[in-house]
Amino acid sequence: MQKKKIAIVGGGVVGASAAYLLSKEPTLEVTLYDEGVGQGTSAAAGIISPWLSKRRNKKWYRMVKEGAAFYPEFLSEVMNGVAIPKTVYNQVGTLLFKNNPEHLKDLLKIGLKRRESAPEIGELKILSPEEIKKKIPLYTGIESALWAAGGARVDGKYLVDLLIQKAITQGAHFKKEHVETLTVKGHHPILNTIHQNTQYDKVILAVAAWLPNLLEPLEYKVDIRPQKGQLLEIELKNTITTNWPVIMPEGETDIIPFENGRVIIGATHENDKGFDLEIDKVQLTHMLHDAVTGFSDHFKQASVVNYRSGTRAYTSDFAPFFGPVPELSNVYAASGLGSTGLTAGPLVGKVLAQLILDKPTSLPLEDYPIRNYIQSKK
Ligand SMILES: Cc1cc2nc3c(=O)[nH]c(=O)nc-3n(C[C@H](O)[C@H](O)[C@H](O)COP(=O)(O)OP(=O)(O)OC[C@H]3O[C@@H](n4cnc5c(N)ncnc54)[C@H](O)[C@@H]3O)c2cc1C
Repeated sequence: MQKKKIAIVGGGVVGASAAYLLSKEPTLEVTLYDEGVGQGTSAAAGIISPWLSKRRNKKWYRMVKEGAAFYPEFLSEVMNGVAIPKTVYNQVGTLLFKNNPEHLKDLLKIGLKRRESAPEIGELKILSPEEIKKKIPLYTGIESALWAAGGARVDGKYLVDLLIQKAITQGAHFKKEHVETLTVKGHHPILNTIHQNTQYDKVILAVAAWLPNLLEPLEYKVDIRPQKGQLLEIELKNTITTNWPVIMPEGETDIIPFENGRVIIGATHENDKGFDLEIDKVQLTHMLHDAVTGFSDHFKQASVVNYRSGTRAYTSDFAPFFGPVPELSNVYAASGLGSTGLTAGPLVGKVLAQLILDKPTSLPLEDYPIRNYIQSKK
């Protein structure tokens, strides 16, 4: 029997998850194209802890809640009996700080209510500075924080490398190439690169902020805009940070410890920079300075060892979307995952894979309507 040819454009967390899942299917031949430039996933040192957000959008909350719950299940499947590497994903818990202690109590109430339908939040309690110090010996602050044991951190780059490697092992083709254009012949989508034009049975566009580049030439109006995110990495010499929780101070800058004293600090949210990826060291030094108040001198004097920059994708109302592209047979897309795309990515990749396989989807498409963001001008 001839295999159905499936292509995925975009090898961030969404496309790589879909490629992994679809490459398990013996009836499909899967090809993943990824240029890799500006990728949000590889830049992200990601926090998976959506439950304590004050954002009230119920559909968004459902997506990130179920996305967070899906992670351990998905990665256990990917690892097939081998332990999930801590470099990729580690459920270390999160510590959320608020300047006003009353706000911590409010959040605890919200969290306890949400835990009724999200037991994966795990233990939830306000920790005193002394209790925080037991988890993070370099903490010298005097503030309490809300502890959520189920929170996790993910290194986006390691995650996509793992998923793409597994997809290739399962028979997927990986092309580190830019898809110049998408064209259509009858009901067949065609992907055109500088090397060749290839016709597929079905195509997934998981290209995040770059979606307009592929759809606008086909006369679509696409409501997607780029947001620049930068972060930096410090190294704490002779310090074991592997199981430190993620630290979320008030404001936008979070502290995300990884193993071997490696700690990531970020990220910026810059709406006026387009697809610019240049590192602004002055801005990042200010961010670092703000982040390390409340920690010992050892933390403050740590050396910066790396910088990262990437692009997030947003819609005008900050809502995500996914589904079949309207009026374009056999083409599916997802985008607009914004600053919680690493949390939702594997689940959204699964939904796209389910669409390719004509299976019921894990999230209801009507709650994330693609038609609101992609409209044919014809
Ligand atoms: C600094 C930073 C920190 C973040 N922190 C968090 C966090 O803590 N928690 C969280 O949940 N989320 C976080 N995010 C958001 C999250 O990383 C993104 O929402 C998510 O990774 C988007 O995944 P994606 O697969 O949709 O897109 P991307 O990861 O952006 O991947 C899209 C890929 O498509 C490729 N591509 C585009 N056009 C083409 C083409 N024509 N041909 C071939 N390839 C193409 C790109 O090169 C790219 O590799 C962060 C983002 C940034 C930038």
